[in-house]
Amino acid sequence: FETLRVILGDQLNAAHSWLKKPNDKVAYLIAELHPEATYVRHHKQKLCAFFLAMERFAQALKDAGHNVQYLTLDDTEGHSLESLILGMADSLGVRRIELQRPDEHRVMMQYQALASQAKVPVHLADTEHFMLPFDEIPRFFKAKTSVRMEHFYRKMRQRFNILMTDDHTPEGGHWNYDSANRQKLKANELKDIPEPLLFQHDVSHLLERIERHKIPFLGEADSTLPWPVTRQDGLSLLQYFCDHLLPNFGRFQDAMTGRSPHAWSLYHSRLSFALNAKMIHPNHVIKAAVMAYRQRKDIDIAQVEGFVRQILGWREYVRGMYWINMPDYYEQNALDAQRDLPQYFWDGQTKMNCMAHAIGQSLEYAYAHHIQRLMVTGNFCLLAGIHPKQVDEWYLGIYVDALEWVELPNTRGMSQFADGGWIASKPYAASGNYIQKMSDYCSDCHYQVKEKVGDKACPMNSLYWRFMVQHRDRLLKNPRIGMIYGNWDKQDKAQQDAVLERAQWCLDNINEL
Ligand code: FAD
Ligand code: SF4
Repeated sequence: FETLRVILGDQLNAAHSWLKKPNDKVAYLIAELHPEATYVRHHKQKLCAFFLAMERFAQALKDAGHNVQYLTLDDTEGHSLESLILGMADSLGVRRIELQRPDEHRVMMQYQALASQAKVPVHLADTEHFMLPFDEIPRFFKAKTSVRMEHFYRKMRQRFNILMTDDHTPEGGHWNYDSANRQKLKANELKDIPEPLLFQHDVSHLLERIERHKIPFLGEADSTLPWPVTRQDGLSLLQYFCDHLLPNFGRFQDAMTGRSPHAWSLYHSRLSFALNAKMIHPNHVIKAAVMAYRQRKDIDIAQVEGFVRQILGWREYVRGMYWINMPDYYEQNALDAQRDLPQYFWDGQTKMNCMAHAIGQSLEYAYAHHIQRLMVTGNFCLLAGIHPKQVDEWYLGIYVDALEWVELPNTRGMSQFADGGWIASKPYAASGNYIQKMSDYCSDCHYQVKEKVGDKACPMNSLYWRFMVQHRDRLLKNPRIGMIYGNWDKQDKAQQDAVLERAQWCLDNINEL
């Protein structure tokens, strides 16, 4: 072989130009690696999803006539990514190593170390996945500076001519339909929530391997994996989304319920794993959604715009914010949060119904939808002042779609405000009132959402006010949140003290909530 090409577990892009036709002189390496399986405690379904998707991808390449070495944990024990690649390059006697640009800073550092040790030239190719070319990131993003998603998103809509009229205005007359898209699910709408499309991939051999190698894990998994592991699966999930979920995607994207067997998935696409492993391309996903909107009367502009915004907007934006701010992002803790993550993040055993649902389904499915991540678990960590490093590790481990480039800006930035506002213009801090507005969790909860003091008072309420008081100097001048202090200042001192006392009790007894 002349060339060794390496494909990582999140680089399963069958449409990549590398793979156009087989070449006898090129060998491909796809490997399960111990350091990748253990750099954080991953959910069992996440480990299985990545390994099975890699296995299937390797097989598809072999079937297409490529030379592929697929190495399992059994073959790679004791190896780092660098030592494995260099050893393989040596033993094959190749004259060149080709890699695809990794999406994670951690892996980029490893590739740089590898390049400095390699005896043959090392070439870095693009993954041919994202809409915004990597080299253009500095044109749109500035380090340690607040960059607003909305501005970036509008530029991307214009650049790719998505949902734009011939006059270069947004289709439907508006860029943003968020105000039409924030509905709660009413009781009589619960029965209409479609059943999610679940796959049934046998992963018993992977579970056995993970256990045999004593890979630490969290969450639950049985021998059938519900997640997509091939491009075809990803496309089926996309089709299912367009047919059954897109008509209500925007309308209910912020809604939460505990009262439906499909509460965990609702109208969300669950495409994030297939996208992040690069089995499907964001442009393809966007085009499919827009085509469904054009062909069907039951999908209005607010639904499709809401979806396009997530992929063309948020997903590309957080990637830009990640790269422009790495490695500084790792160190950010603007609110000086120092507390430990409570035990119930690992077992879901809490009396707070919203948290029990969000954590419970994360453990069961390796999935929670955006508002659960942001406004339930994320909000709780923000209010309770949990150290952002611990929060990051939990999110990075538990979700099937979690890769650092997308997890870190969402968690440390958007959710924990640890970057002091590079991403969010205000902290996403909310009392129980927000959760009550968007869900039916509160009426089934041990706590009273209307109460701020007393044993039965919703912990989110007193913690919210404590958070606001604690960060008054920083937040008072924020035009999007500063006016809240009027409500606090109106209350008499005895009431304020009682709320702060209740908050302190909640923090002192955080594991008992
Ligand atoms: P849908 O609701 O169907 O949305 C469609 C797609 O839009 C998603 O598949 C995703 O690719 C994209 N998208 C939506 N919101 C975002 C966002 N804020 N950032 C980037 N892409 C977005 N997403 C991940 O892919 N990996 C993560 O590790 C991750 N960690 C998160 C941590 C926190 C604290 C928060 C608040 C959000 C996180 N997100 C993450 C973003 C978002 O919650 C998930 O992308 C989404 O819930 C995945 O489910 P879905 O595919 O059903 O999404
Ligand atoms: Fe969550 Fe408070 Fe509502 Fe209970 S009352 S579900 S803790 S917001």
